[in-house]
Amino acid sequence: MTDGEMADLIVVGLGAAGASAAIDAARAGLDVLVLERASGGGGSTAASGGYLYLGGGTSVQTANGYADSVEDMIAFLTCEMPDPPHDKIRAYCEASVAHFEWLKAQGVPFNTKYFGGKHFEVPSDETLSWTGGEKAHPHVTVARPAPRGHMVAAQGAAGHVLIERLIAAAEGAGVRFAYDANVTDLVTDDGTVTGVRYRSEGAERVATARHGVLLATGGFAMDPAMLAEHLPVMARDDVYVVGGAYADGVGIRLGRSVGGATKHMHAQLITSPLYPPEGYLKGVLVNRDGDRFVAEDSYHARTSQAIVDQPGHVAYLIVDTAMYEPPSFGQQQLIDVWEDFASMERDLGLPEGRLQATVARYNADAAEGRDGAMHKHADWCQPLVVPPFAAVDCSLGKAVFSGFSLGGLATDVDGRVLREDGSAIDRLYAAGATASNLAQGSSSYASGVCLGESTYFARRVAAAVARDAALAAAA
Ligand SMILES: Cc1cc2nc3c(=O)[nH]c(=O)nc-3n(C[C@H](O)[C@H](O)[C@H](O)COP(=O)(O)OP(=O)(O)OC[C@H]3O[C@@H](n4cnc5c(N)ncnc54)[C@H](O)[C@@H]3O)c2cc1C
Repeated sequence: MTDGEMADLIVVGLGAAGASAAIDAARAGLDVLVLERASGGGGSTAASGGYLYLGGGTSVQTANGYADSVEDMIAFLTCEMPDPPHDKIRAYCEASVAHFEWLKAQGVPFNTKYFGGKHFEVPSDETLSWTGGEKAHPHVTVARPAPRGHMVAAQGAAGHVLIERLIAAAEGAGVRFAYDANVTDLVTDDGTVTGVRYRSEGAERVATARHGVLLATGGFAMDPAMLAEHLPVMARDDVYVVGGAYADGVGIRLGRSVGGATKHMHAQLITSPLYPPEGYLKGVLVNRDGDRFVAEDSYHARTSQAIVDQPGHVAYLIVDTAMYEPPSFGQQQLIDVWEDFASMERDLGLPEGRLQATVARYNADAAEGRDGAMHKHADWCQPLVVPPFAAVDCSLGKAVFSGFSLGGLATDVDGRVLREDGSAIDRLYAAGATASNLAQGSSSYASGVCLGESTYFARRVAAAVARDAALAAAA
C-alpha cells in the first residue's frame, strides 16, 4: 500500500460532472485531485450528443424570440416525473440562465442558430432546438412550450467538445489529475469519509480528502449484473447499451458500501426513435390489440418506453402512402403494404376489426384537425386514406433499441449522499450519472437533462465543499 496523496476535494471520475465540480472547487481556492480510471477524461460524456437542457430565458432563447420562463420550465420538468424532487427542479431551473453563461465562460462553444424541426439529434450545428415533448401532450397542457435543447456547437455528436473544454478549464484552474487511477474503495473514519483507495501503476494507494470525496464515475449501463437486477430490458441481447467503457456502477456500489441509499434504479433512457422522417408522426402507432397507446408526436424515448410497456413489447406504426418515407436511420423495418386495413390486421395477427376501428376513429378526428384519443398535436393529424397502407415494425426485438441507466445514489440538492433515513453521510458527495437527480425515466425525460444536471449539481457540490472548508478554517 502506498500512501501519500492528499487534497481538499477528491473527485472520482473525469466526465462532465467531475470536471465541472473540479473547476468550481479549484476556483474557490480548494486543492482538488481528480482520479480517473482511464488514460484520459471523457467517459459517457465524450460519447454523448452534447445537448444540455437549459431555459428560463437563456441568451440563445432570447436571441431567437422565445420568452421562456423559470415557471414554465419547472412545470415542464415536473410533468410526468414519477417522484419530482421539487427543491432540485427549482434550483436547476432558477440557475439555468447563469449556468449556460458559466458553460460559455469555460470555453464551451455555442452559437445562436435555431433548428425548428422534429429530430432526435440535430443533423447540423444549431445550438437551440426542441429536444423534449414540449409541444406534445401532456406537457403542452401544463407548460408554455419553448425550445430548451442547447447543443454544444459542433457538427454531429458534440459531447467530446464539451468535455475537452471542461477539462481544459479545470487544468487552467489548477486542478491536479491522476490518470489510470482505478478507485476501488472508500476510506472512512468513524462514519466520516476521509479518502479513497485506488490502484495505479500496479500498486494499491490511498488518497486522503480533507473536506470531501465526490463520486462521479458515471452510470451502470456497462455492468451486466446491475442491468439484470435493475434494468432487465436493457440486459437483453438485442438492446444496445451505450456509454463509456467504465460506466460499470462502481460509484453507486461505493456509496452503498458506506450506507448510501439509491433512487430510481429502474429508470432507463431507452429509445428507438420514430422520427425523422417527421411524416411518420402523422401515422398511428398500435399495439398487438390494434389499439393506440401514446401520442405519436411524443418525445422519442417516451414513445419507446410506451412500446416496451405494451403486451409482448409489440408495436406497429401504420402510415399511408402520403406519409410513407423509408426510415431514415434503419431503426425500424417496413413489414409490408396492404390495400386495406382488414387485410393488414389479418396478416399482422391483430384481433378482427380492432385496427379498422382504431383507424376509422383516428381518421374521423384527424379530418377535423384533432386527436380525441391520444391528443396528438393538430400539426400531425392527417387521415390515413391514400393506399397502399404500410406497417413498420417498432416492436422491441425487431426495431433497434438503445439506452443507458438513469438511477443512482440518493443525494440532497448539494450532492450529499443520503442514507435511507435521509441523513447525509459526512463528506461524501455524488453527481452526474452516479446520482439520482432529475432524470427519472424515459416518459419524463428530454434530451439534455443528463448533461444539464451532471454539470449543474456537480457545481453545487463544489460550492458546498468550499463552504464546509471555510467553516472548518474559521472554527
Ligand atoms: C451515446 C450517448 C449519448 C448521450 N447524449 C446525451 C445528450 O446529448 N445530452 C444529455 O444530457 N445526456 C446525454 N447522454 C447521457 C450523458 O452522456 C451522461 O448522463 C453523462 O455524460 C454522465 O456524465 P458523468 O460525468 O456522470 O459520467 P461520465 O461522463 O461517464 O464520466 C465518468 C468517468 O468516471 C471514470 N471512472 C469510472 N470508474 C472509475 C473508477 N473506479 N475510478 C476512477 N474513475 C472512474 C470513467 O472512466 C469516466 O471518465 C448520452 C449518453 C450516451 C451514452
